[in-house]
Amino acid sequence: MGKSGRKTEQTPIFESWGRYPQLHADLIPLHWASDFPLQHAPAALQLPVGLGRSYGDVCLLENGTLLHTPGMDRFLHFDSATGMLRCEAGVSLQKILDFAVPRGFFLPVTPGTKYVTVGGAIANDIHGKNHHVAGTFGRHVLRFELVRSDGTRFVCSPIENPEWFAATIGGMGLTGLITWAEIHLRPIVSRKIDFLGDQFHGIDEFFALSLDATAEYTVAWIDCISTGRNFARGIFMQGDHSETPGPLTPSKEPRLTFPFDLPEFALNRFSMAAFNSLYFHKQLRKQKAGPVDYEPFFYPLDAVLHWNRLYGRHGFLQFQNVLPHESGREGMLEILKAITQSGLASFLAVIKFFGDIPSVGMMSFPTPGVMLALDFPIRRDVTFELVDRLARITLDYGGRMYSAKDARMTPEQFQAFYPQWREFARFVDPGFDSAFWQRVTGRRPIVA
Ligand SMILES: Cc1cc2nc3c(=O)[nH]c(=O)nc-3n(C[C@H](O)[C@H](O)[C@H](O)COP(=O)(O)OP(=O)(O)OC[C@H]3O[C@@H](n4cnc5c(N)ncnc54)[C@H](O)[C@@H]3O)c2cc1C
Repeated sequence: MGKSGRKTEQTPIFESWGRYPQLHADLIPLHWASDFPLQHAPAALQLPVGLGRSYGDVCLLENGTLLHTPGMDRFLHFDSATGMLRCEAGVSLQKILDFAVPRGFFLPVTPGTKYVTVGGAIANDIHGKNHHVAGTFGRHVLRFELVRSDGTRFVCSPIENPEWFAATIGGMGLTGLITWAEIHLRPIVSRKIDFLGDQFHGIDEFFALSLDATAEYTVAWIDCISTGRNFARGIFMQGDHSETPGPLTPSKEPRLTFPFDLPEFALNRFSMAAFNSLYFHKQLRKQKAGPVDYEPFFYPLDAVLHWNRLYGRHGFLQFQNVLPHESGREGMLEILKAITQSGLASFLAVIKFFGDIPSVGMMSFPTPGVMLALDFPIRRDVTFELVDRLARITLDYGGRMYSAKDARMTPEQFQAFYPQWREFARFVDPGFDSAFWQRVTGRRPIVA
């Protein structure tokens, strides 16, 4: 995450999770809501940042001032009758789980890592494996405080300043600093998840399983490397919170840390194909069912801290898009073929149906349809060329890409994916900016 610690002649680099692009900025830690606006207002533009778990440049600002929020990490109020939690925006989802699970509560929506802040979860209006039944994180946010760079502070909710509520949820940190938020947790009686895993072969089997699924959480891992009869094979995973009372103990700290940047040659077609094959066959039977702990079900990657070093010092790009149901099958086939032909895919590919619960945020990513997300190690030219091609296919099939995972969209693509961007621009704080926003509004070239 974040501070690479690397000293340069300029200001330090704050890295996003993909470690690309590498941009310099001043990092100012915030501890209290009153720390902002800063006492000595910087001449530079500003941007709030959380734990740097976005992949591209949405949490970066070259030569800017990054307002680092994880020090604002206090719980302010919890109502165990309703599950309403008020906390500062720098509180991580990990901290919420450690507090809430022993009390019989769980996050209403969680991404594939618990190392994100509440502010980051709101600003990207994150989604999880229960999108089809719960919508995005923003739907479970009751209220928050927004502070603008001119010192104005106001509370936003569906009834108080509702237009600011909608602009800030999914607003990529550009509308102001969120200092605290109230979210609604959901009750659980056990850490366990009742799990069901089904192997599938090909996109049609994936579609059939998605249509039949009844569980609260659904997601599939899909092999984007194998060709021939193994093309688009995968494992479809479903889960529900167990209704049988069970352990509600807090999680243990992960003990593994990826220790160094892997050299570029280590991740190649053969090592990735071998991993995919192992992963597919780890489930030996066509179907596997039983209780599992919530940690490996929701956060398999969190077991190894700093796993992003696996991609080496050049980092990686994540591509994440959604295509509408009508064109989803055809479009995903074209995308999967382009990826397998390139031989560039890594092992972390997920595919899922989004539901039709509308997002509260004006700029939120999820729309009804089929979503694909996967990582590509950066190999100059070839990776950029492939991701740019996938973006064009996404546009052709009427889909859109996720800003929180992006480092390559052109202004034309972004503005076609999010035609409401002009309306959103009215809410952007004049003292705030981001490398992403500069790029997609045509003020900064795409870094090659
Ligand atoms: C392994 C992994 C799995 C993931 N899985 C998913 C997934 O399943 N679904 C999903 O939606 N995302 C997923 N993500 C992405 C991640 O959830 C989002 O990028 C999230 O926003 C990161 O939060 P953060 O605290 O790290 O914020 P950062 O990445 O530091 O910042 C994200 C955005 O939030 C803004 N921001 C941060 N704090 C504040 C604040 N206090 N006030 C205003 N703006 C603020 C920043 O300006 C920036 O625009 C995943 C990421 C990883 C690494």
